[in-house]
Amino acid sequence: MGDSDGKAAAAPGDVPDLCDVCGALVPRRRLEVLRVPDSSAVTMDARFDGERLLRACCEPHLVQLAAGYQHRPFVAEELWSEQIVRAVRLLGPMDEEELYERVIALTGLDEEQLMRAAAWREDHGSHLYGPAPS
Ligand SMILES: [Zn+2]
Repeated sequence: MGDSDGKAAAAPGDVPDLCDVCGALVPRRRLEVLRVPDSSAVTMDARFDGERLLRACCEPHLVQLAAGYQHRPFVAEELWSEQIVRAVRLLGPMDEEELYERVIALTGLDEEQLMRAAAWREDHGSHLYGPAPS
């Protein structure tokens, strides 16, 4: 992270990336890529929420990667909970009531979605807001 403006330092296309199957270094312009739905995929870039970018050195490896995601269930509550966690991190510590409202504003989720995400999270052994820092 940091305060990068999103521009890569090197020329685009020249930065090598790793194949997710064999780990080979491949120049970006030759990389085989595919976006697949994945409800656990939330990065700092909200445009790609719920999508995982698969990267491979060749088509067979890309097919192999995609096969692994074919049967992964897409759970909306999981996606929402990841978006909420990101929002809480961005906002930093604050009054619980204010936090709640700002999370809603930031994520665009409604109260019912927030509740469903929190319930999903608890079913999976973690909490959305964690213990308050003292
Ligand atoms: Zn490969």
